[in-house]
Amino acid sequence: MNYRHAYHAGCFSDVVKHAVLVLLIRHLKEKPKPFVILDTHAGIGRYDLASEPALKTREFEAGIARVLADPSPPAELRSYLDLVRSANSGPELRWYPGSPWLANALLGARDRLVLAELHPEDARTLGLTMGADRRIQVHHMDGYRALKSMLPPKERRGLVLIDPPFEVTDEAERIARGLKHAHKRWATGLYAIWYPIKDRPPIDRLHGLIVATGIRRMLVAELLLRPPRSPETLNGSGLVLVNPPWRLDESLKALLPALLKSLGAARHGSVRLDWLVPE
Ligand code: SAM
Repeated sequence: MNYRHAYHAGCFSDVVKHAVLVLLIRHLKEKPKPFVILDTHAGIGRYDLASEPALKTREFEAGIARVLADPSPPAELRSYLDLVRSANSGPELRWYPGSPWLANALLGARDRLVLAELHPEDARTLGLTMGADRRIQVHHMDGYRALKSMLPPKERRGLVLIDPPFEVTDEAERIARGLKHAHKRWATGLYAIWYPIKDRPPIDRLHGLIVATGIRRMLVAELLLRPPRSPETLNGSGLVLVNPPWRLDESLKALLPALLKSLGAARHGSVRLDWLVPE
C-alpha cells in the first residue's frame, strides 16, 4: 500500500467529492430520523497542509485554497466551505478536513459514523483523530469487507462512501462486486463511489461493470479540469451516486459549473451530470 492521501489532501478532486458529500449528508439531515455513514476508505480524518507530504505536492493550492479565495462562491458550496473554515482556528488555511471529519461535523446525537481504513499507520492516526466519540467506530480493515460486515445498518437510513485509491489493477472489479453485494443487503442505502479520471477507457470500463450489477437509479457527476487524454495525469474526477436524494441533480447542476469556474478551469474544463442508469 503506497498511496497516502496526505499528499493529495485538498486537491481539486477532494473539493468536488467533499462538496457533494456535504450536500448528501445535508439531505439525510432533512428528516429527523437517525442515519449511519459508512466510509469504506476513510484516510486519516484531517490533514495538516503544513506537513511535508502536503507541501511536497502543494495540490491544495489549486484546489481548496483557490476555491476559498473565490469572493462569490456558489451557494451550494457554502456549507462545505464553512466546514473547511471551522476545521481551522483562524483565517489561515492549515487543516484540510477529510470525509470522516466532515461527516462527524454534520452528525446528530443519534447518528453513527463507521470508518474503515486498511493502511496500519493511517488507521492508527484515524483512531487518534476520530475515535474518542462514542457515535464513531474506527476499524483497521478492508473497506470491501466492511461493506459485507456492516450492512444493512440498524438505522436503515444512510450513506456509504466508497473512495478507494485505485492503486490495485482490479479496483473497478472490487468496486462493482462490493456494490452489488452491499446493494443486495441494503437496496435503499445511498452510495457514493468516487473515481479518478485520467483518460476515458478505464472509466467507461468502470461504468460498464457498475451498470452490469443491474442496480438502477445511478447518477454520474464529473468535473474535468481538461480533456481526459493523458493516462499519467489526474484530469478530473467523478462520482457514481446510487439512490441520489430527490432534487440532488438540480443542486449538482448548479454546483458543478460554478465549481469549475471557482477552480479557474472554465475555459478548458467540463462537467457531466447524467443518469448512468435511470429509475
Ligand atoms: N475518504 C478519504 C477522504 O475523503 O478524506 C480519503 C481516502 S483516500 C482517497 C483512500 C484511502 O483508502 C487511503 O487512506 C488508503 O490507505 C485506504 N485504502 C486503500 N485500500 C484500502 C482498502 N482495501 N480498504 C480500506 N482502505 C483502503
